[in-house]
Amino acid sequence: MRTQPTPAHPAPTEHRVLNPATEELLATVPASTPQDVDAAVRRAAAAQPAWAALPPGDRARLLRRFATVVDEHLEELARLEVREAGHPVSAARWEAGNVRDLLDYAAGGVERLTGHQIPVAGGVNITFQEPLGTVAVIAPWNFPMPIAAWGSAPALAAGNAVLLKPAETTPLTALRLAELALAAGLPEGLFQVLPGAGSVAGAALVDHPGVAKVVFTGSTAVGKSIMAACAEQVKRVTLELGGKSPNIVFADADLAQAAAAAPGSFLDNAGQDCCARSRILVQADVYDDFMARLEPAVHAFTCGDPTEAGTSMGPLISAAQRERVRSYVTEDAPAAIRGTAPQGKGFWYPATVLERDPQDRAAVEEVFGPVAVVVPFRDEEDAVRLANATPYGLSGSIWTRDVSRALRMSRAVAAGNLSVNSHASVRYWTPFGGFKQSGLGRELGPDALAAFTETKNVFLSA
Ligand code: NAD
Repeated sequence: MRTQPTPAHPAPTEHRVLNPATEELLATVPASTPQDVDAAVRRAAAAQPAWAALPPGDRARLLRRFATVVDEHLEELARLEVREAGHPVSAARWEAGNVRDLLDYAAGGVERLTGHQIPVAGGVNITFQEPLGTVAVIAPWNFPMPIAAWGSAPALAAGNAVLLKPAETTPLTALRLAELALAAGLPEGLFQVLPGAGSVAGAALVDHPGVAKVVFTGSTAVGKSIMAACAEQVKRVTLELGGKSPNIVFADADLAQAAAAAPGSFLDNAGQDCCARSRILVQADVYDDFMARLEPAVHAFTCGDPTEAGTSMGPLISAAQRERVRSYVTEDAPAAIRGTAPQGKGFWYPATVLERDPQDRAAVEEVFGPVAVVVPFRDEEDAVRLANATPYGLSGSIWTRDVSRALRMSRAVAAGNLSVNSHASVRYWTPFGGFKQSGLGRELGPDALAAFTETKNVFLSA
């Protein structure tokens, strides 16, 4: 919500960054004030025109150099992500590599950002893709590095300046990326990072008339308030919000494969993933068989020290997040499957599978933790009804050997990113975004740069 600081709850002047696996203090980072935001917007406005005016090949080359510098620091960035976000090191390496790849991919779009020549009577009609100016990217804590880059890389490639506000709990990789951008030769002021409170620095970016577009990833409640604030200035906005995605397993599926893959779909990143398939819908005929196969697969998904190569799942981000997750796992109905997690320091929470009514809070709300609810369904129609009985529509998976059913289901499920016999839904070169209250607009994919431009139409009488 757009809760503003009050005298009783003054804005923090700094943020303490903790290692969620150990609770050790990693760093104290100053919180940006509205004055800091204003100064950053001015620096961005000074840097952006020359950046936009660069020959496309030169802009692309600088972004590729930025990608190379990220690659040279991949292990350092990954280790920083492990420390501040608790991600297993194998996942964190993928995340740092994703930043490199996004920069590289966006660089490839600079020379391809072409307009059209449209036949008209009495002259020539051409279109230009003009940069917007300064773009604010407001990032969450669940995937601090990739999500920062999803917005920043195409925005820069399209000729914009970027002001990145990382989440309060995870500012360190973003700050390091800004240093690497300068080291790669990006101009001062073009890519700035403003750590700070959402209600202060985030709100100041959203409200600032010098910011042309806001790219927000986070909770649906905050996303709605940002959309409303953007409406004041008809400011462009992209929203990537929550999800409650279904994993639909039909009786004709390869059950062994479906059960083996299910844990990763809701336990990756300890379930702190907007695409988590946290509702497992299983056709009633094979329900018991599926559950018997799911149990060992969940136990094999090891939760522990994120610095170790074999770890599949780390801790939750914070004590507050753990309390939130706990509130969904009530004692009145025991968990069907319960994994293990380390005891003692750290915000640990074990893998948990619940058998609940589809109306149960845990089956309806985004838990954002390693918790899935399993619900049986009768037939295809019932599966579609259950899958779509949510205000969200981000992603989902369909497991079946019947190709016709896979296609029918893919068209019937109202979600932006579906996978058949797989849970893969994020690639930097394919579009990503939500239906319904999961978001607005698309990121990634071949059209990513276009979302950071205005189309200008010019008619020349001749
Ligand atoms: P959040 O939406 O509060 O924060 C996301 C980002 O927005 C952060 O950088 C935050 O500082 C900023 N922000 C917060 N209030 C703002 C405001 N008024 N104006 C501008 N920026 C603002 O998310 P959270 O509190 O970190 O997490 C709460 C819940 O949100 C989670 O439990 C989860 O359900 C959901 N969430 C979803 C995603 C996602 O990828 N869809 C990511 C993070 C959190």
